[in-house]
Order: sequence, then structure tokens, then C-alpha cells
Amino acid sequence: MSGGDTLEFEIRPNPAPVTAADRAALLANPGFGRVFTDHMVTIRYADGKGWYDARVEARAPIPMDPASAVLHYAQEIFEGMKAYRTADGGVTMFRPEANAARFNTSARRMAMPALPESTFVESLHRLIEIDRAWIPEGEDGSLYLRPFMFASEVFLGVRPANEYLYVAIASPVGAYFSGGVKPVTVWVSPDFTRAAPGGTGAAKCGGNYAASLAAQAEAIEHGCDQVVFLDAVERRWVDELGGMNVFFVYDDGSVATPPLTGTILPGITRESVITLATAAGHRVQERPVSFADWQADAASGRLREVFACGTAAVVTPIGQVRFPDGEFTIGDGEPGQVTMALRQQLVDMQRGKTADPHGWVHRVL
Ligand SMILES: *Cc1c(COP(=O)(O)O)cnc(C)c1O
Repeated sequence: MSGGDTLEFEIRPNPAPVTAADRAALLANPGFGRVFTDHMVTIRYADGKGWYDARVEARAPIPMDPASAVLHYAQEIFEGMKAYRTADGGVTMFRPEANAARFNTSARRMAMPALPESTFVESLHRLIEIDRAWIPEGEDGSLYLRPFMFASEVFLGVRPANEYLYVAIASPVGAYFSGGVKPVTVWVSPDFTRAAPGGTGAAKCGGNYAASLAAQAEAIEHGCDQVVFLDAVERRWVDELGGMNVFFVYDDGSVATPPLTGTILPGITRESVITLATAAGHRVQERPVSFADWQADAASGRLREVFACGTAAVVTPIGQVRFPDGEFTIGDGEPGQVTMALRQQLVDMQRGKTADPHGWVHRVL
């Protein structure tokens, strides 16, 4: 797409959608990422032609040649966001423009074409509109949206592909924490790192996740829920979790989170938490936090709360930290006050229950 002309979406409704009764049964306990809606969005890209063939169509397998570039060299990026039902029967998204901008930052790093931000946001509107019956009712559920793009060119040469496919799918999800928010235990990986300076740590690409899976498996082996990565150069500074950013809350009310130096994914939840915590009167610092200080400050009691944050789980308290030489507890191991207040504020804002002074809530329907 060039010259400012807009891409028209062709709507081809699914001729055989899931019946209302079957949908209700699926929505009763959707879990995460297992149930999908009736439709998907696809948009094609070719060098010299730009973006074309924007469609909303029946969700279906994507035919793929075995020599498709993505299968060999992993040119793939994605986003993760949610649509929420509001008390008045509406539907919202949270800061979709931020996801659109980040999608293009990721695309640039992976030598992929940019998708106009308005097209990205419109694609999600169209999908939510046609599949709105799939958004779970009630406080905890939401419709998880997964826009992604990959190199579809059939070519084994190593260079940026010249054909791409953008796809958006949607998956109803239930409460992340069934039975109330529970603190997680994290494993500080001694061997694996997630991102190096100059690498792809700040891009939301599938490859970063592939590289994190062995470390996550190691965390599970040690009885932990999630892995924490230290920096790749000194193995000293806390970067983030496999798919969530991390915050530290101290006894003087100050809050710290590692700075965006290129090895950390710039979370939209992270940025929102910085804004909300600052507005609530906390002194928020984006500064390096060493694992040694994390341990020492937990032992002295100066460190009161630690939490992880991201779209899927919003804000998640971290109760216990394990590493090869030992383990320690944060505070009394229970969810902290600051953590839970920030969590509530975000959740209420996303569901349209509270004022939105930052203009973050995007009304879809
Ligand atoms: C997506 C992601 C996050 C969280 O980003 P949000 O925009 O808050 O959902 C954090 N870390 C990694 C590695 C991620 O991929």
C-alpha cells in the first residue's frame, strides 16, 4: 500500500460457523490458546506491489510450500493483545496503536515490511466485529488477539524474503488465575540468556521464544513457574522473564524496573504500569537491578514486592525466587499491596470501569 490509499477488506463470512450451543460449551472453560473463533484476517504482501488482498475469512489451515522462507530462517513476528467486554455491553481494546507501532518496530529489526498502523488496528476491529459472540462474558474472560506476520516466499536463499503473509486470529481465554491471584515462583537461569546487545531482544519474534523454551523447561524441572533471564554480557543484571517484564517495589515506596537497552521487550503493560505508579505517587526508576541486590534487598526487607507484567496475566506477584545455590522469598511470599493495587487499576481501566485519563481504552463496539 502506498500513496495513502486505504486497503479495502473483503468480508467472506464463514459458511459453516460453530453452532451457538457448541460455542457456549467451548466458552465455559476455554483455558488459554486452545479455542479459536470462526474467522481470521489475512493480508498479503509482495515487493513492488505492497499490501493487497485484505480479507476476513473462515479460519482455516494456511497452505504452505516446504520451501517457505519462514520455515528455514524464522522471519516471523507477532503481537498479543485482548478485547474486553464492558459492563454496558460494549467491547474495548487496550492501546492497540501501541501494539501496531511495536509490530512495525519488530518488522524493521527482522527486515520485514511495515504494515500501516491503521490497517493493523482495522484488521482487529473487523475480526472482533465478526466474532464478537466469542468474547467470554463475565469479569475474567477476554478475547486474546494474535496478529502475526511471516515470510511466505518460496526460496531457500538467505536474504529478506520478498513475500509475506499477515494473519490475525482470535482465541477466547478464561481467567489466568482460577481461584484468585497466586504469587509465582521464578527460576533464575544460570546457563541460558534471552537476548544480547545488538540481537533481537526488543523485537517480538517467534525466534526469541524458541530460544527461551529450554530455559523455561529448566524452570519447570526446578519446580518453578517461570524463568528470569540475566543479561548476556555480565550475567549480573536482571533483564526480564520469558514473556513478561519485571518490577521491584521498595519499603520507601519507590519502584524500579530494568531500562530498555535493547535486550528487553518494551512491554505495553510495563509502560502503563510506569505511568500508573508515577501517578499514584511512587518514585519510578528505570534502572539496572542486579541479581545480587535483588537477593540482598529481599534479605534485608528493603525490597517489599516484586511483580511481573504482560498482556496475558496483567500483573503477577512473584513470591519466591530459586537459583542453583538457593532460594529466597519476597516479603511474606503473598501478593503485595502495591502490586495488587496496580493490577486492579489496570483491569478496571481495560474493562471500562474507571476513568481513562490517558486515552488508553479504545472502544471497538
Ligand atoms: C510480549 C512480551 C512482554 C509483554 O508485553 P506486553 O505488551 O505488556 O504484553 C514482555 N516480554 C516479552 C519477551 C514479550 O514477548
